[in-house]
Amino acid sequence: MSRRFCLALCAAGGLLSACGGGRTPPPRPNVVLISVDSLRADHLGCYGYSRSTSPTIDRLAAEGALFEVVTSSSSWTLPAHAALFTALPDSAHGVDRGSRKLEAERRTLAEALRAAGYRTAGVWSGPLLDPRFGFGQGFDAYVSHAETEEDWDRAVERSHQAVTGPSVLARVEELLDSGGPGPLFLFVHLWDVHYDYIPPAPYDTLFAADYSGEVDGRDLVDYLRMGLEDLSQADLRRLTALYDGEIAWTDRQIGTILEMLEQRGLADDTLVVVTSDHGEELFEHGSFGHKRKLFDESIRIPLVVGYPDRIAAGLRIAQPAAIVDVAPTILELAGAEPLPDVLGRSLVPLLEGGSSLPPAPVVAELVDDPRTGELLLAVRSPEWKILVRPKSGRTIGLWDLEADPFEQTNVFRVDPELTASAVAGLRSALAELEHLRDRHAHASSTEAAESLPADLLREMESLGYLDLAVPQEAEGPLRASPNPIRVCDGTGIGVTTLVWDVADAGGLLEIRVDGPHGKLFARTAASGSAATGPWARDGMVFVLVAADTGEVLGSTIVRVTRAGCQAD
Ligand SMILES: [Zn+2]
Repeated sequence: MSRRFCLALCAAGGLLSACGGGRTPPPRPNVVLISVDSLRADHLGCYGYSRSTSPTIDRLAAEGALFEVVTSSSSWTLPAHAALFTALPDSAHGVDRGSRKLEAERRTLAEALRAAGYRTAGVWSGPLLDPRFGFGQGFDAYVSHAETEEDWDRAVERSHQAVTGPSVLARVEELLDSGGPGPLFLFVHLWDVHYDYIPPAPYDTLFAADYSGEVDGRDLVDYLRMGLEDLSQADLRRLTALYDGEIAWTDRQIGTILEMLEQRGLADDTLVVVTSDHGEELFEHGSFGHKRKLFDESIRIPLVVGYPDRIAAGLRIAQPAAIVDVAPTILELAGAEPLPDVLGRSLVPLLEGGSSLPPAPVVAELVDDPRTGELLLAVRSPEWKILVRPKSGRTIGLWDLEADPFEQTNVFRVDPELTASAVAGLRSALAELEHLRDRHAHASSTEAAESLPADLLREMESLGYLDLAVPQEAEGPLRASPNPIRVCDGTGIGVTTLVWDVADAGGLLEIRVDGPHGKLFARTAASGSAATGPWARDGMVFVLVAADTGEVLGSTIVRVTRAGCQAD
């Protein structure tokens, strides 16, 4: 019986199962997994957005399946991609802060597919997908979108200002044509939706042609310090229009990838999965960007699955899913062995239509104090979301998602029934997380900071992924005044930059850390500017000293805060 004939007979369910009396061996489709960085679900047409940002993804959803409520593991790139690849929550895969990398002992989606006979290839286009974070494991080829090392250096240095879509497509084409035995697993990371918002024409004016203000989508890392009061409504509309323009531009890149599959006759035999790592705050809860909070605008992601030969068209699945479910689902559809002991589960029963899965905890985590490991934990059900600080036992809030989908009114203890339900769900989630951490503790992530080169550290800082410090008033009669100081958390990684304006100091200057040892960390001839290593601590006093006389020219206390930064 031909497959086409089989499908004509068996298309009643969602997933078009093989028919006939005997069990057919599992198919081995090609798999293309596309992660669009910073793409929030509710800005896509197929998720109900009013603007036509996503004709390609909408078409993929119409021809395949769409999961309506999908939650990421966090609100930033590094842990979310580790969760995508391992099906583990952040506190179990361990890559929950910028100083950590995915350990080789972790089993990944690419490794499982390779073990099942797949050729595995990945294209990455943002600095946090760098193989130095451990993301290359399991890939036969894991390549940067940049053609040359020089291009990549340039892109890393200014990645938030780079337009990477075309070079990603060039690498995708090369990998599709690289040939070889076995089906192909291709992972594609598309970076352009990530701030800055600088879509090429005509996408830059597609949704806001009449704006005359100053918002141009550039230097958006500065917006991490801003509040809604710093923008006019017209500015905010322009900012949103540029974000939407980036989505439309990126949707076109996805369209080109699908065309490449069609041109090669691969479209019918390829499972295409489009998702994202996290969303983006556009001041819904007072701030901009991501890696700041865990409200839905920054953790609800799209999940659209197309596989013409096996998934019935137009399936919309309401049962909640999570980023950790992506890998188990792909593995089952690919007929590969599942990842052992993971939080994620295969969504194939839902793709079969008519089935449902038992309720399971949906969690998102955000370490917002790497020194102590203090984190925000969100646990979500279809009815509620509760946000807590598990280490200190504090509840931040509870939201009734049915009555208040935009999470504006905290009803913790105000609504006793919902509170009881959420607390029970929270307990269950905490128990599951503890179990998973124990199961995976043997491969706890090690600090990657020492092995990460300065270019990567600088880039992370430029993206706002490191904590910022605010300077306190200089003390004493000083001739040097500190300018705003940027400092990473002491146990994280990053570059601390201290800048002093020094009036007629002359001679050699030294910047020392005040204290028993007076540690010297910089010596500079002409200015009071220096960068430290990853060891700056909250409350450290830095002094600027004239090297020849020992005279203290200025001092400042650095205070590591997250206020106005990414995780307040
Ligand atoms: Zn991201």
